[in-house]
Amino acid sequence: MLKKIIHTILLLVLILTLSACNNNNNNASNNKIKVVVSFNAMKELTYAVGKDKVDIETITPNGQEPHEYEPKVKDLGNLTDANVFVYNGMDLEKWESTAVNSVNNQKLIAVNASSGFKPIQTSNGAYDPHVWLSLKGAEYEANKIMVALIKSDPKDKAYFEKNYSDFKTKLETLYNDYKIKFINSPKKSFVTGHAAFNYLCRDFDITQNSVEDVFADGEPSSQKLQDLIAYCKANKVTTVFVENMVSPKVTSTLADAVGAKVTKIYTIESEEDNLDYLQSMKKNLANIYMSLQ
Ligand SMILES: [Zn+2]
Repeated sequence: MLKKIIHTILLLVLILTLSACNNNNNNASNNKIKVVVSFNAMKELTYAVGKDKVDIETITPNGQEPHEYEPKVKDLGNLTDANVFVYNGMDLEKWESTAVNSVNNQKLIAVNASSGFKPIQTSNGAYDPHVWLSLKGAEYEANKIMVALIKSDPKDKAYFEKNYSDFKTKLETLYNDYKIKFINSPKKSFVTGHAAFNYLCRDFDITQNSVEDVFADGEPSSQKLQDLIAYCKANKVTTVFVENMVSPKVTSTLADAVGAKVTKIYTIESEEDNLDYLQSMKKNLANIYMSLQ
């Protein structure tokens, strides 16, 4: 008799456990991993690895500067039931640890995508956060994201590894192509709106000069503008790159003063012109290369 009661209890526990598992699966809408990312570039890299197996929510709205954006309470709501949170790190998202601590989500896997990547220090001593604008940096960050997705959903390990490997091949093909091109370029430096391309420059042994400081905080002083004009003239700069969000007026003033043309460049900090990561980088590299001829 006692044996039978124990048996019944065990069976009940088993049924309850199974139905709890089922509920969990239903909650994770159609079994996709729920990923929250801090801004557009993290969305692009997460999608490259996660594709159909992830649902991605982006905290920084399109058209907003991730350097300046302070998330509202409603922006963080998605973190309470997310599986994975991807942010760039190197202090770009200053709100990141407060956000993670405030949502009290035990299952949340937080990914600092640039953690361990060899940083570049800027003149004010901080780390330049623009790791994703280097093809090598994007490969590094996508790998960190792959590890987190596998940890969240081990049964799709092969799928994430395959997507990462395809993405990596495309990044490396593009890198190898431009490595040779930049070695053979007669000029080695270009001018842009905000100094977002340190890591790209490190990859290819070229240099950037910018209208704004690395952190896009305000317009340059007139002295800085005069210095840039002198620099452009001395270096026969023929192209000034402009970004949607940063100082288009200052950039065109500069371009007019030195008789250069203005060309668009993508920082991938916000979604622009419906381009994905690789399409944006291909355009950037082609335009930078052209400006160095
Ligand atoms: Zn930036």
